[in-house]
Order: sequence, then C-alpha cells, then structure tokens
Amino acid sequence: MHIALIAHDQKKEDIVELVLANQNLFKSHQLYATGTTGLRIMDATGLTVHRFNSGPLGGDQQIGAMISVGKMDLVIFMRDPLTAQPHEPDVTALIRLCDVHGVPLATNLGTAKVLVKALEEGLL
Ligand code: PGA
Repeated sequence: MHIALIAHDQKKEDIVELVLANQNLFKSHQLYATGTTGLRIMDATGLTVHRFNSGPLGGDQQIGAMISVGKMDLVIFMRDPLTAQPHEPDVTALIRLCDVHGVPLATNLGTAKVLVKALEEGLL
C-alpha cells in the first residue's frame, strides 16, 4: 500500500507516536509524507519515507497529485483545527481529492487508529 502521512505542527508528536507504535506494520508499506512530517518520522523510527515539499510549500498538492492518478491508497492527515494555516486551500483540496477518488482518509488520531487497525487486519 502507498500511504501518505501528514501532520500540522501541533499534531506532529501524535503522528510520530502512531507510526512508532505500529512500526512493524508501516515498514511493509511505502510511506510518503510532507517534508517536516517525513523528517520527524524518519528520525524517530528509522523507516524510509519518501518526502515531498513541506506542506506550506506545496507538499499537500504533491500528495494530491498522486491521489489524482490513483497512486495513493491511504491518507493519514492529522490536521490542527485550532490554528490558521497559510495553505488552507491546499488542505481543503487534498481532502476533496480523497473524497473524489474514494481514498480512505483520517484527519484525527481516533480515525487514524481505526484505519491502522483495518490495515493490520487486511481490510484495506
Ligand atoms: P510539514 O507539512 O510536514 O512539512 O510540516 C505539513 C502541513 O503543514 O501540511
């Protein structure tokens, strides 16, 4: 599976902990991330992550491009709903593309855990 991992700054700790706690599962999939999120995950886990640009510099759109050509199977996007983002239009576009293409998307830790469980059980 091709999995995208994105987290806004206030949620980076959460996504790192999620990947750390499920490292064995994630290591058998191809991981993609926006720049800083990818760096944090690689530093904490040693997993290989294909890093795109940082979100505000176009990383969300690069992941969106993969979704639009059917090359992304799952998106974990830990959004911070309490902080204004300079690239809010890109955030909205990414979520929209997941809906257009029917790609499973988690935007908070609770749903992310459900998707990880589903991945573990081969339901995705
Ligand atoms: P970052 O981008 O991983 O480079 O911080 C995430 C985002 O803000 O969309």
